[in-house]
Amino acid sequence: ISSLQQLPLDNRLLTLGEAYYSRVAPTPLREPRLLHANAELAAQLGLDPALLHTPEFLEIFAGNQALPGGEPIATLYAGHQFGNFVPQLGDGRAILLGQLRDAAGQLWDLQLKGAGPTPYSRFADGRAVIRSSVREYLAGEALHHLGIPSTRSLSLISARDPVRRESIEHAAVICRVAPTHLRFGHFEVFYYRRQHEQLAPLADYIIAQHYPELWERDARHRDWLREVIGRTAALIAQWQGVGFCHGVMNTDNMSILGLTLDYGPYGFIDAFDAHHICNHSDDHGRYAFSRQPEIGYWNCSRLLQATLPLLDAQPERAVEIAQELLQHYAAVYEQRMNAIWRAKLGLAEAREQDAELIDGFLLMLHAGRADFTRSFRLLAGVRCAGEGEAGPLREEMRDLARFDAWLAGYQARLRSEDSDDAARALRMNAVNPCYVLRNHLAQRAIEAAERGESGEIERLLELLRKPCEERPGFEAYAAEPPPEAQQISVSCSS
Ligand code: AMP
Ligand code: MG
Ligand code: MG
Repeated sequence: ISSLQQLPLDNRLLTLGEAYYSRVAPTPLREPRLLHANAELAAQLGLDPALLHTPEFLEIFAGNQALPGGEPIATLYAGHQFGNFVPQLGDGRAILLGQLRDAAGQLWDLQLKGAGPTPYSRFADGRAVIRSSVREYLAGEALHHLGIPSTRSLSLISARDPVRRESIEHAAVICRVAPTHLRFGHFEVFYYRRQHEQLAPLADYIIAQHYPELWERDARHRDWLREVIGRTAALIAQWQGVGFCHGVMNTDNMSILGLTLDYGPYGFIDAFDAHHICNHSDDHGRYAFSRQPEIGYWNCSRLLQATLPLLDAQPERAVEIAQELLQHYAAVYEQRMNAIWRAKLGLAEAREQDAELIDGFLLMLHAGRADFTRSFRLLAGVRCAGEGEAGPLREEMRDLARFDAWLAGYQARLRSEDSDDAARALRMNAVNPCYVLRNHLAQRAIEAAERGESGEIERLLELLRKPCEERPGFEAYAAEPPPEAQQISVSCSS
């Protein structure tokens, strides 16, 4: 598609009716400037990447001009924030411009985040700043290219408008893209308002558009919830596997498709602390790294609570079904997590005692605050046999006696499955990234972007798009943060 006048829009969400959203147009921004556009994502949507660099694109995706064929809306949702139910949230600064139907029939939300106030903004300004927009823009790509489901962004546009946070910053807007941005909270709002008749149409919309294979099932709502729960469990296992800490796992930030959604104070862990809290506003560590799996479970239980009326007309029976469904979470999580750790350790076969070996490695990283990403990456250099055959991994470790003892067990385990050093290293290097979006790297890109320079964003994306491919000359991007960068504080402010 080479014209924005001819986008194949299919604004399906609107067919649900106005109980689910409010019509609202973006508020214009002053002197918008395209900081970055995602040609790769554009191509996937079937858009000619040349479109991204037209003045028309800039005006439309800054929110200054209507998207031809678009019918902009903000959607209504609620959510449990830090454990407490908040009866009304909604898209407070995100506006769905329209839904695009690609050539393969897949639906895509084109959503501006930072597009100005909506009926759900409460007392906030509806804006986003360059800092948080760059962070979200980069993170979506980083996770996607690690093979982790995520929303992505098509464009990153900055503007002159001042935005007040802790200090005055400049406004920015991204165009967020996902098959849908619907969340657990979209169900919670109607459940707790006792508008239970709104639940089934929403579930059916999601099933029809995004889980069509379930449409004909007798118990399609049950089967669909099972799928959502399984995807959520799998997603969180994937986060754990790369040391990704989401930071704000409120139910309004949980995607109904199991996508990573809403990048705020997230972080990839550098020096491994299993209980790392990436969000400085999270005083009690509710969303600490080690708690993500149980929080995911709790969030799924909130979704099931809100969808009880869909499970059975008889409340007791509905609760029974919900409890069965919830068990699926633990089963999927465990299965996925074990598979991920095994792959990261290069174990081809599954053995009973592997858990001990895996925990031993993680506990050792934790105790010595070894760099999570580097340690796993360097593990590929270990050979099956021979003393001191640990290569540079040993240098990451603090307690060498402990490391050597663990290493002996690891080597014995590798020999027991006749592991081939070269083949294993290849496998491991395909799953243990060398480049992740460390906070200090994002910070450098932000500071440059605030000066109007996007070169660092491009350079980072270049690496993050092939996170497992080592590039000569980019060693600094795979290194642990320099001491002066270790104290970057990230809060909910965005
Ligand atoms: P979050 O903590 O990012 O998940 O956001 C929670 C709620 O606050 C959502 O309803 C957001 O839309 C809303 N929100 C966050 N920041 C803003 C803002 N600057 N203006 C309006 N609403 C906001
Ligand atoms: Mg949110
Ligand atoms: Mg947010």
